[in-house]
Amino acid sequence: MNFTSFHPTPRTLMGPGPSDVSPRVLSALSRPTIGHLDPEFVAMMDELKALLKYAFQTENELTMPVSAPGSAGMETCFVNLIEPGEKVIVCVNGVFGTRMVENVERIGATAIVVNDDWGKPVDLEKVKKAFSEHPDAACLAFVHAETSTGVLSDAKALCQIARDNGALSIVDAVTSLGGVELRVDDWGIDAVYSGSQKCLSCVPGISPVSFSPKAVEKLKGRKTKVPSWFLDQSLVMNYWGGEGKRTYHHTAPVNAMYALHESLLLLKQEGLENAWQRHKDQHELLKKGLTELGIEFIVDEAYRLPQLNTVVIPAGVDDAEVRGKLLNNYNLEIGAGLGIFAGKAWRIGLMGYAAREENVALCLTALKSALA
Ligand code: PLP
Repeated sequence: MNFTSFHPTPRTLMGPGPSDVSPRVLSALSRPTIGHLDPEFVAMMDELKALLKYAFQTENELTMPVSAPGSAGMETCFVNLIEPGEKVIVCVNGVFGTRMVENVERIGATAIVVNDDWGKPVDLEKVKKAFSEHPDAACLAFVHAETSTGVLSDAKALCQIARDNGALSIVDAVTSLGGVELRVDDWGIDAVYSGSQKCLSCVPGISPVSFSPKAVEKLKGRKTKVPSWFLDQSLVMNYWGGEGKRTYHHTAPVNAMYALHESLLLLKQEGLENAWQRHKDQHELLKKGLTELGIEFIVDEAYRLPQLNTVVIPAGVDDAEVRGKLLNNYNLEIGAGLGIFAGKAWRIGLMGYAAREENVALCLTALKSALA
């Protein structure tokens, strides 16, 4: 075998993630690696935490990036905040709600599943009913922006229901952070996790998380040890906690943290509200073009994600062939349908740096030609 360096073809990433990474973020990634306890790195970590708090709109002291992908952020919330034998109401309206159920069951807790159809948001009345049948539920868990379907659920109202019932809330904001309104403190979210590779347009592999004071209280009052050493937040916070005081917990992915810092700086410089508006504007542009091509959306406008557009594959069109043409002729990636939408839908992402007019134009041109 003749081994050579790996040079991937540059692609335009308009699928469900990873999204296009900004050149500024790629450049940050290639800066010199320094020690994860170097005073310069430690100073950067303080800034990174402050920028993350801005992105999440929170004052939560326990706000930090987990050195692992979004699934590890999900697991961080469940292993720290749920104990064996507890009940968790889990809303399932797509793939990632199902993954939450797995997390709950693997801890030895009981998942009370509230199912909604794929393509629909979480039904508030069903959640209220679940709490009335299980008033002892310790927590409500749901996905804010379901990437498998392109649906936005009402996080503010759901967290209010959790609070009304004395339960904590765990919110998946992997696809929502930076793309649509998300206000952790105003909405009373207790635990939230995201991913670096969606609307933050950073490289994959980091998961920002934030715990409210109430969540930290629950963690401190646990009767059992957190079942994961790596994800135990009381240990990780010796490294990511109190300003400036850092002791070794694990070797942070130093360069990936530079990249996350840069992507959050981009978000801060643009302004969160402006970023939300940009995603909306680019979605409108894409919608107009797709409608002209006769392509229909699966999700109702009222709860459609601007950053993840799930559309019906026109009758008689070969899914894989069209996606292949986009990739080979235009270096453009769009996403296939997942689960019940496999072979029936495409998922067109407009996430972070990908939510730009030139990307929308490329996607429409490429689709028009591939469908001709
Ligand atoms: N939750 C949602 C809503 C996601 O879209 C994803 C990834 O696509 C995840 C969780 C898991 O993130 P990761 O693939 O980074 O582990």
